[in-house]
Amino acid sequence: MTVSTAPQSDPHALAQALSGHHLIDGAFVAAASGRTFDVVNPATGVVIGQAAEGDAADVDRAVAAAAAAQAEWKTVPARQRGKLVAACGARLAEHVDELGRLIALETGKALRTESRVEASVLADMFVFFGGLGSELKGETVPFNPSMMTVTVREPVGVVGAIIPWNVPLLLMAMKIAPALVAGNTVVVKSAEEAPLTVLRVCQIMNEILPAGCFNMLSGFGPECGGPLVAHPKVAKVSFTGSVETGRIVARAAADRLIPATLELGGKSPMIVMGDADLDRAVEGAITGMRFTRQGQSCTASSRIYVHESVHDAFVEKVRARVDAMKMGDPLDEETDIGTIISPQQLEKVKGYIEAGRKAGATAITCSRMPKDPALSKGLFLQPVVFTDIAADAPPAKEEIFGPVACIFRFSDYEEALAAANDSEYGLAATIWTKDLRTAMDATQRLEAGFVQVNQNLVVQPNLSYGGVKSSGLGKEASLESMLEHFTHKKTIIFNMT
Ligand code: ADP
Repeated sequence: MTVSTAPQSDPHALAQALSGHHLIDGAFVAAASGRTFDVVNPATGVVIGQAAEGDAADVDRAVAAAAAAQAEWKTVPARQRGKLVAACGARLAEHVDELGRLIALETGKALRTESRVEASVLADMFVFFGGLGSELKGETVPFNPSMMTVTVREPVGVVGAIIPWNVPLLLMAMKIAPALVAGNTVVVKSAEEAPLTVLRVCQIMNEILPAGCFNMLSGFGPECGGPLVAHPKVAKVSFTGSVETGRIVARAAADRLIPATLELGGKSPMIVMGDADLDRAVEGAITGMRFTRQGQSCTASSRIYVHESVHDAFVEKVRARVDAMKMGDPLDEETDIGTIISPQQLEKVKGYIEAGRKAGATAITCSRMPKDPALSKGLFLQPVVFTDIAADAPPAKEEIFGPVACIFRFSDYEEALAAANDSEYGLAATIWTKDLRTAMDATQRLEAGFVQVNQNLVVQPNLSYGGVKSSGLGKEASLESMLEHFTHKKTIIFNMT
């Protein structure tokens, strides 16, 4: 059974209809092995569908389709490619509610606070990049008066994109939109926990794009992602995921001498000075920590340094805000907080909470478990705010990817700044103050790729996003990301003598 591309209102029926497929060369196909694996609703434990279990044979087929399509696609005028990508954005905008429901069903992220928002940012990302076709400009180079020397931007070829489960729509869009506009074709390997909504996006886009430009595989990391990175016809890898897997992908790319963009983990600091607008800072901590997403974000502001003069008031306000949030059925419009993605992730997060308690920290547990018996097998977890926690306790240092925030007390700005920078990660950071000099100083000295003052916005189209240190290599979401990561510069000399 396949499904119409008209917007669908029932996510369960849609999950069933999408089941068991890759999308290769414009068509739904089963895995070469015929194998599938279950996709589970984390709010109920119920299997909602199956994903095709891809392996090297499927990778071969998808890359061959992408390579064949690229020969044509790169000759389509850049602005026309952009128009088609923007048209995909406009079409996806008609599916925001449908995509929001499906992603809520497979990831447990609450529809109102997270899933629908993600679906609308997805559409916006395609519209943004779709307008950038004419920006694929080269240069004239003053090399020799008798030689006309120019550079042109050429696509790299077939891009292999590997994405995680936490924000799969947005993170995928940040890769495929610029890759396609720049004249590349793409094979995406979805995350095993969230394969269906991205497949649906691929299906919708394949109504507009030529067959083979955008192919979607589902499968497990080493068995499907591994062969994609290793495939001789893949010219570039763009990966978002954990630091450990990022290292494996980077090593595999190095073996083949192909470029890899890596967006990895984080342990992002937030510094709240004594003069900060406290209510705004509290709201910043709530969005920054992504409590509505159960903290499952690489950018989560999970280390919060608060000046001692406002520390206790800040902690109380954060506690009250998170406590008032409603945990429940992700598809219920009233729900603020959904579930953790998988039983393994739930155990991992619980381990960190236990470790924090053992280290002597004060654990403030917020919100309440849902009472609905239909959700009794759901992977719900009450958010925890740690105070009085040692800087070297595991929850204070390591990326948790769960609803656990650590709030530290400081007395001196230099002490807070040093603590904020004392991390292997460097993805995002924020400073909250009314003092312009402190703000300016912090923006210059915070070791992170994305630094904000008095706000905590999430990724936005046109703002370069990506980390330093172990948080990754390369930027995404901006014009520069398209030029630097999805094209190479060719130098051409016309000798007129
Ligand atoms: P997480 O711990 O959040 O699942 P991972 O970094 O393991 O994060 O997964 C992110 C993506 O990387 C997923 O699509 C996963 O299947 C893929 N992946 C995992 N292992 C490998 C690997 N060895 N090679 C390529 N991709 C992989």
